[in-house]
Amino acid sequence: MKKSTKIIIAVAVIVAIVGIIFGVSNIHRHKYIDEVIAPTCTENGYTRHTCECGNTYTDNETEPLGHKYVDEVVAPTCTEKGYTKHTCEVCGDTYTDSETEPLGHKYIDEVVAPTCTEKGYTKHTCEICDDIYTDNETEPLGHKYVNEVIAPTYTEKGYTKHTCEVCGDTYTDNETQPKPKPQPNNNNQGGEALPGTFRKNPTTGELESYLPGLGWVVATQGTDTTHHNDNSGWENSPQIGH
Ligand SMILES: [Zn+2]
Ligand SMILES: [Zn+2]
Ligand SMILES: [Zn+2]
Ligand SMILES: [Zn+2]
Repeated sequence: MKKSTKIIIAVAVIVAIVGIIFGVSNIHRHKYIDEVIAPTCTENGYTRHTCECGNTYTDNETEPLGHKYVDEVVAPTCTEKGYTKHTCEVCGDTYTDSETEPLGHKYIDEVVAPTCTEKGYTKHTCEICDDIYTDNETEPLGHKYVNEVIAPTYTEKGYTKHTCEVCGDTYTDNETQPKPKPQPNNNNQGGEALPGTFRKNPTTGELESYLPGLGWVVATQGTDTTHHNDNSGWENSPQIGH
């Protein structure tokens, strides 16, 4: 063996020994921190061991707990199915089963008669859910008016009053003008006045009486004025009759 070869081998051995010594002195011993993961309804529980070097492993598995369902029976309605609803009180998972058919509406019928102006109909009301629909419409009856003719007076117009004998609705039409006031007789107008009536002459202010064939003449002393009222007898003359 050459001398140089011996030297190389010797160096290699030294390097190897030094490396082994160095390596052994730095051997990493895992220090695990344990974390217990609780089981859920559907997942296993376990313990996870984690070293700060990143190395992990798990053990101590436990079975899933399984859901803890609380059952709620939902009754059917007129239009919706009934069912039983199962809700896990732990995780909130739900499912339904045990469906039942809808009940269907139970209608009570009420016949609403037509009025003078409104249609009649049949009203169907579900006694369970209060759903309502109507059908069987009938036409309004129309008013049944009774007519009353109101004659005009001297001051009020006349008219015809129509009153529905069913609903009391009223309206009026056929207005007529007030009756013309009877005019007092005087010389200017040449009308007829009743004998024995008096007036105050519109021009002179003198008291006058009406005499058949003569017309209005100034009342003289002794003239019968018993029918005279407050110097305006001409206004009342139609009512003062003889
Ligand atoms: Zn480690
Ligand atoms: Zn659950
Ligand atoms: Zn209903
Ligand atoms: Zn009516």
